[in-house]
Amino acid sequence: MAEAAQKQQRTPAVEVVDLKKHFPVKKGLLRTTVGHVHAVDGVSFAIYQGETLGLVGESGCGKSTVGRLLLRLIEPSGGSIMVDGADVSQMSKAEMRPYRRQMQIIFQDPFSSLNPRMSAGDIVGEPLMVHGLSRGQERTERVAQLFERVGLRPAQMRNFPHEFSGGQRQRICIARALALGPKVIVGDEPVSALDVSIQAQVINLLMDLQRGSNLAYLFISHNLAVVEHISHRVAVMYLGRIVELAEKKTIFTSPQHPYTEALLAAVPVPDPAIKRAKRLVEGDVPSPVNRPTGCHFHTRCPYAIDRCKVEEPKLLPAKAAPDTLVACHLR
Ligand code: SF4
Repeated sequence: MAEAAQKQQRTPAVEVVDLKKHFPVKKGLLRTTVGHVHAVDGVSFAIYQGETLGLVGESGCGKSTVGRLLLRLIEPSGGSIMVDGADVSQMSKAEMRPYRRQMQIIFQDPFSSLNPRMSAGDIVGEPLMVHGLSRGQERTERVAQLFERVGLRPAQMRNFPHEFSGGQRQRICIARALALGPKVIVGDEPVSALDVSIQAQVINLLMDLQRGSNLAYLFISHNLAVVEHISHRVAVMYLGRIVELAEKKTIFTSPQHPYTEALLAAVPVPDPAIKRAKRLVEGDVPSPVNRPTGCHFHTRCPYAIDRCKVEEPKLLPAKAAPDTLVACHLR
């Protein structure tokens, strides 16, 4: 009861409802549309203040597209993105401006996302300049504070991106993302390009920055160990849809969806005495242009029944674990 009451009190930092992104497939001289890639197809979730929502799935499942849609880096084909009670999905650029400050993104490759001709200080201070928030000495001091906050020395503000290590460059990206005081940061595989020893430092930095604040993260990754470490809740995507959404502990100890079971079964266990009991799925992810009918997972699911081929399962509370949302006829 106490947990349910706590959940009710949580305030969403951002909420998406039935979000869609369908890319047209064009062919021939006349560039005729011959189909659509259903990259994101009716995704709904909220990220609460101070929370990290992990978003996992195989490559091509649409998780990075969700991150880009959230910031309107690409335009949605349908659905809504609610921030502070307003739907930003249809807003003009001018209307979006105050909301842009509230949502920032950190990309996978910290080198290609930094302008090599700008000093690190100018890169971090650029959003403050663009939004007219501070100038001159005030901006320099603010940038120095941001450098300290992410574990860099203010003296390094004069250096250029190539003078930093991979981990330090990602710290610059994080400082730039923090500059405008966002409510939500989307991390799109933010540690995947870093050495394993550096990954932990950057993850711990992100967690430190969140501690005691209302900062929310959408953490997109294919690395389940990293997601387990940083997330409060986890959403699993398959072919453009969320197939399971639950508290981190629940997902990792008692997954409900066969696809989540398979993802976890594919993670190596460091102790040879421990054997994975679950079955691995076989085959590749089907094309998002010609998706299987019914449950999109039925072509790979070891539990599939006839109903799965014709009827699409809805994301509903699982019978065995009502706090878990799962899209499966059997769970
Ligand atoms: Fe497998 Fe059917 Fe459940 Fe889809 S609905 S995950 S095919 S059992």
